[in-house]
Amino acid sequence: MAAQQDWLNAFNTEICKDFDEKWILSEVEDLPNDQGWRRFTDKAKVKFKCSHCDNKWTSLKGQVIFLYRLKPKRKKGEVKMFLPGQMCRYCDEDFESPKWYNKEMLKVLGNLQQMIDWKLYGGDRPERLNKGQRGGRMRSRHESDKCQACRMGICGKSDTN
Ligand SMILES: [Zn+2]
Ligand SMILES: [Zn+2]
Repeated sequence: MAAQQDWLNAFNTEICKDFDEKWILSEVEDLPNDQGWRRFTDKAKVKFKCSHCDNKWTSLKGQVIFLYRLKPKRKKGEVKMFLPGQMCRYCDEDFESPKWYNKEMLKVLGNLQQMIDWKLYGGDRPERLNKGQRGGRMRSRHESDKCQACRMGICGKSDTN
């Protein structure tokens, strides 16, 4: 599963190498204000583990919200990343952080790269973003009240601005 360092490494490989400006990634703990930023939201299959009990679960509604902008004068690109959590159905304590499969992480960063290239560098409009692996029948349905993204009204959305 992808640790924070894996995100940073993959970001350097997937994003930074393609652009002249220096791009930096920072993870944020809450949905950031997107004033002045562009937004790209993507979905993936993720895993969770409760930090209070042994419960583990998989969700197809793992979500990532990227905000990105380019500061041309300073020759710097910035990306803020927010990964909404889910709560254990038994403990109901805190939102647990999602664990991302490396493959899914690479998928969403690749999609982000295409979006940045299109929106900020005049590249081609992405014809089809990589949807990655869907499927896997879920035994239990999605519990909205345990999902941080649902509570914020952004669950299951993939959108851009
Ligand atoms: Zn628990
Ligand atoms: Zn949800």
